[in-house]
Amino acid sequence: MKIGWIGLGHMGNPMAANLLKAGHEVTVWNRSREKAEPLLQQGARMADRPAELMESCDVVISMVSDDEAVKEVYLGQHGLLHGQAAGKIAIDMSTISPATSRYLAERCRERGVSFLDAPVSGSVQPAREGTLIIMVGGERKTYEQVKPLFDVLGKMSLYLGDNGSGSKAKLAINLLLGITVQGLAETMLYAKKQGIDPRDMLTIITESAVGTPIARGKAPLILENRFPSAFPLKHMAKDLRLVHETGASSPLAESVYASYRAALDEGLGDQDVMAILRYLAGDIRS
Ligand code: NAP
Repeated sequence: MKIGWIGLGHMGNPMAANLLKAGHEVTVWNRSREKAEPLLQQGARMADRPAELMESCDVVISMVSDDEAVKEVYLGQHGLLHGQAAGKIAIDMSTISPATSRYLAERCRERGVSFLDAPVSGSVQPAREGTLIIMVGGERKTYEQVKPLFDVLGKMSLYLGDNGSGSKAKLAINLLLGITVQGLAETMLYAKKQGIDPRDMLTIITESAVGTPIARGKAPLILENRFPSAFPLKHMAKDLRLVHETGASSPLAESVYASYRAALDEGLGDQDVMAILRYLAGDIRS
């Protein structure tokens, strides 16, 4: 299959690289052209505008920041849907609102394009390793057509129902992620105040029943008090805003939404999601 790829950030770059490694012909477009360099060296081609991808590829995949970015790459001046598009498949893997997924599905349908929302669970390491979990909404037959691509990008893909279903499931898992990361941060701060050595506390957590892969993965960042981003905090704040806007009003959902939003306001957005610890500790340095 000829694949078009839009969005070469933390996630898009390694994901597109895996499709290249699997032998697909990949043409990329990114707003900042320089980010395409590593992929061009691995054999990808570069398009001048998103519309070109829809014309020259069978399937176009987008992996960009948020609702506004996805609307821009689909519907903007040189957007995907301004090319010759009928008969093609468009897949959006970004984390966006279910309403925007459905809206884009409708705009695609009007132009004869089949659309899937297919956001992912898993960060940069699983993106590199091709072990993401992919949550899919749209027509089942379209899902079945592109499942071989999902098999390259992830360790599993789940078909969940109509357009928007993938985005709904993604917001739900990220609510749990936001709660888990903040829970880890609060536990570490509490233990430190009680005089427990952070290294010992992390050993206890990671070896215990609540020792999740996220706790193991974030332990080095906590110990070094350095938070280079794998999953930027600004994206978590965005996801929890979407959770809030889609009606979650439970105690923890409200609480984590407020704290990640405040951390974003304090300028921690480009650091890793684990930098919520710095916000909770009152340790706000850039
Ligand atoms: P990122 O590193 O911030 O990259 C964002 C990408 O979106 C870049 O390619 C950026 O282009 C592009 N973009 C932003 N605004 C745009 C616009 N208006 N028009 C065109 N392109 C635009 O983000 P990421 O970490 O790869 O995340 C991508 C998506 O996956 C997000 O929805 C995120 O919530 C989700 N996600 C992330 C992770 C993770 O661990 N990072 C895990 C699961 C899901 P430029 O290069 O020009 O800025």
